[in-house]
Amino acid sequence: MDVEIKVTITAPDGTTHTDTIGKLTKGFETIGEIGLSIDESKTLLLNIQQKIVGAQCAASCAERASCQCCGLKLRCKARRQIRYRTVFGDVGVNSPRFYQCFCQDMSARTFSPLTELLPDHVAPELLWLETKWASLMSFGVTTDLLKDVLPINRKLSSDSIRRHLGRIATRMETDLADERFSFISTNAHQRAQLSNPEGPITVGIDGGYVRSRDVDQSHFEVTVGKSISTDRPSRYLGLVQSHDDKPKRRLHEVLKDQGWQENQMVTFMTDGGDTVIKMARHMAPASEHILDWFHITMRITVMQQYVKGLAHSNPEEAEAISRLLRQIKGFLWHGNLHDGRTIIGDLVIDLDEIETDYPSFKALRKSAAEFETYIANNANMIPNYAERRRYGERVSTGFVESTVNTVVGKRFNKRQQMRWSRRGAHLMLQTRTRTLDGTLRAKFEHWYSGMESSTENRMAA
Ligand SMILES: [Zn+2]
Repeated sequence: MDVEIKVTITAPDGTTHTDTIGKLTKGFETIGEIGLSIDESKTLLLNIQQKIVGAQCAASCAERASCQCCGLKLRCKARRQIRYRTVFGDVGVNSPRFYQCFCQDMSARTFSPLTELLPDHVAPELLWLETKWASLMSFGVTTDLLKDVLPINRKLSSDSIRRHLGRIATRMETDLADERFSFISTNAHQRAQLSNPEGPITVGIDGGYVRSRDVDQSHFEVTVGKSISTDRPSRYLGLVQSHDDKPKRRLHEVLKDQGWQENQMVTFMTDGGDTVIKMARHMAPASEHILDWFHITMRITVMQQYVKGLAHSNPEEAEAISRLLRQIKGFLWHGNLHDGRTIIGDLVIDLDEIETDYPSFKALRKSAAEFETYIANNANMIPNYAERRRYGERVSTGFVESTVNTVVGKRFNKRQQMRWSRRGAHLMLQTRTRTLDGTLRAKFEHWYSGMESSTENRMAA
């Protein structure tokens, strides 16, 4: 059977044009013939896009072809073809350059309406689509996917997607206001006047490692966080500390986006690292800093694994050490630092005295010594976890580990050959965190007016 697809466009001046944009001959004998094929859809979409963009640009130029002030018809100096790159293919448009009217400021003698309408020749939605998918998977796979399903230019390279993503991330960075020492802007009296805040916010911050492109260093550290609000969707944040000069501002903006106000409680859960604690300092007047229970249990679990190995050669000693570890865990869970630290001291001494052939014994000793220091350094951040749990408060983000994996793992390390510069990783973290928490599109809609109508401007059935 024959199918003909037509597009009718009515211009602002009332003239109507109907064009045939595609004729298809479709069989109906086999399943492979039923419906539009991807190739047919690409051709149709590209042709429709060409018609719509062409008509819009023509309308825009017609409006600017006479003086906005005195109505005089402007002389055309020259015309050239420009390529406008869209999700539905590259579209060629005729771009005129007009002489300015004599009644206007003549400092710029000519102007080009389409250069003003389409300053960067790439459709915002194409930038959004590229940025979103390249934040989730490699540039190469993104390029392949887009080319598979859309009439995107065959010449689109993974390098140009990389450049576009870098441009978008850089623009996000430009939007970020200045760093400050403190983000607290109210005094106690002013905070007492604020309306009742929403429920508490918990911010989990942790680090991860990314393979470095630098020759002098194999890895560098990235910091990622998740902000969980009781009443609103969660937000991610990510940065490369050794590159970023606005870590506190970044955290502050995430809290602000979640509607946080200065009388609202924020709990920071970290692994106790200096950099993350510095980042959260002077951030919120009503705040507490807690060592994430996850980091304590993780270290104890590691030691318990060694003890299982020790049990093969020294069953009695292993049983005694295992008992100490269980006691330590119990004391720390109840925030009993005095007894907890005493037993950790016993553990270190006992380990010193054991003689064994167990090959990983040195590693166990080292873990215990490090644990002693860790608990000593972070003693003021260890609450009574049991009591928190009873009151329904968080003791662990648990999510922190999964946040690191979500934000860093899949995009940065899965492909082991992928190496990053600090700047490249930092920029990728900006688009990736927004992609993961679902705020990337809103950012684009904020930048490009009219983009939001694409979801509202539903097709009439
Ligand atoms: Zn004029």
